[in-house]
Amino acid sequence: MTDDAGQDDDPVVRPGTPSFRCIADECGALCCRNPYRVDLGEDEVNRLATVVDVWEVVEERAAMVLMRQSDDACVLLSDDLRCGEYDVRPRGCRDYPFRLELEEGRPPRVERDLACPGFIGPPMTESEYQELVAKLA
Ligand code: SF4
Ligand code: SF4
Repeated sequence: MTDDAGQDDDPVVRPGTPSFRCIADECGALCCRNPYRVDLGEDEVNRLATVVDVWEVVEERAAMVLMRQSDDACVLLSDDLRCGEYDVRPRGCRDYPFRLELEEGRPPRVERDLACPGFIGPPMTESEYQELVAKLA
């Protein structure tokens, strides 16, 4: 653990970083709203196309983006602030607010989105951190 572990402005996740708990009811499902963007791979487009009929894909740098509702929320966000297609939600949504960075010759590095207000739990232990890395891999 380094001295700066757990700092609020450090996007790198390590043992000591506050653990995450989703507080969608308090934040209003911030991550599913404007500035909203979920990149989709082609397999995800095909998978979601089987369950979503009111949507549009926008090609953008080889990625695709789910359509927004009129209030700039994701088209799949329900009124109860839950994902309307939780079981088939995109990979990026499953991993959020974390992202695994893989670089050849270096150990995997986990980053977090500092815009998410859910980092309010006790400091992450080493084993919790390793579990997170395994889950994201
Ligand atoms: S992941 Fe973070 S931003 Fe998204 S609903 Fe949960 S607490 Fe809010
Ligand atoms: S697909 Fe679900 S989890 Fe992802 S942004 Fe839309 S509502 Fe949120």
